[in-house]
Amino acid sequence: MQIQAEQIVAFGQKLERRCYEIPTPKGTEVVVRITASGVCHSDVHVQDGYFDLGGGKKANFGAGLTLPLTAGHEIAGEVISLGPDAKGASIGDRRIVYPWIGCGTCKRCTTDEELLCGNKRSLGIRADGGFADHVIIPHPKYLVPYDGLTDTQACTLACSGITALSALKKLPKMTSEDRLLIIGAGGVGLSAIGFASSVTQAKVVVADITEEKRTAAIAAGASDAVDSADPNVKDRIKQLAPEGFFGVVDFVGSEATMKFGVDNLGRGGTLVLVGLFGGTYPLALPGFSGRMITIRGSFVGTLAELHEAAKLLAKKPKSGVPVTTRPMAEANAALDDLRAGRAVGRIVLVP
Ligand SMILES: [Zn+2]
Ligand SMILES: [Zn+2]
Repeated sequence: MQIQAEQIVAFGQKLERRCYEIPTPKGTEVVVRITASGVCHSDVHVQDGYFDLGGGKKANFGAGLTLPLTAGHEIAGEVISLGPDAKGASIGDRRIVYPWIGCGTCKRCTTDEELLCGNKRSLGIRADGGFADHVIIPHPKYLVPYDGLTDTQACTLACSGITALSALKKLPKMTSEDRLLIIGAGGVGLSAIGFASSVTQAKVVVADITEEKRTAAIAAGASDAVDSADPNVKDRIKQLAPEGFFGVVDFVGSEATMKFGVDNLGRGGTLVLVGLFGGTYPLALPGFSGRMITIRGSFVGTLAELHEAAKLLAKKPKSGVPVTTRPMAEANAALDDLRAGRAVGRIVLVP
């Protein structure tokens, strides 16, 4: 049997369809037949081979990658074969694949902090991922059940879902009097709006420069949505959060959104920076200590958070990200739409 994959063969170029033999799984390996594969903005960066650091600087991470590479890290599918030592999985199991896989041997990996591993073998970034009809997983522990959810909903939890949940869990405890500001109502922002009521009592205000995305945010449960590029946005924020927001999550991570987030952070508030759009941000130091603010980064989420996200979403499946499915053969067009900011919700490719 063969794997058919849409692969990166050169950075900055279109993906190419390539076929190769499915290897017989060794040791603890598992082969999953992919039924749904979400497209994430990070896939655009992987395709480009760099992140923009602002001021014309780029972080090239392509040097450590071996091409061709199958991108895609939001995978759901069915177990079709198991290595001799792959215990805890069975043929026919339908599972989400946790893609943020560590080296397995370092101090972080052996103390249950795999996400902090400095030598990860993440699927779709360091190892072949989901833009294909099959994928090889190193161990069954990375397979997460998703009872009560469809394949297309479930796959989005592997990145956008846990990214949203993990960021929300890093916020301070808030009451129903507090307002939480979510910047960016793309796939991850919408997912965060869906999870917010399970994690915090605070009402959610969304900031996005696109009207279509603000409308989607209100439909997903946000109490208010503001246009952060509107010259009168200050007055609007004054009404919504007169003392600033106690919690802010920036799912865009651009110079403009970071400034907007920090400017509107209340005394003692926490800003969680998630988005990887790129740039640099100059911080007025006296304001940082004087306002007693916390700025912390958050990247994807843990395996435990993926189990939690699947259970939370199964309780309210309608709160998931709106999903558009497209055939796997349209992987290039899907990446182009994401790069151009044309996608509302999540695009899921189906082999
Ligand atoms: Zn992602
Ligand atoms: Zn490690």
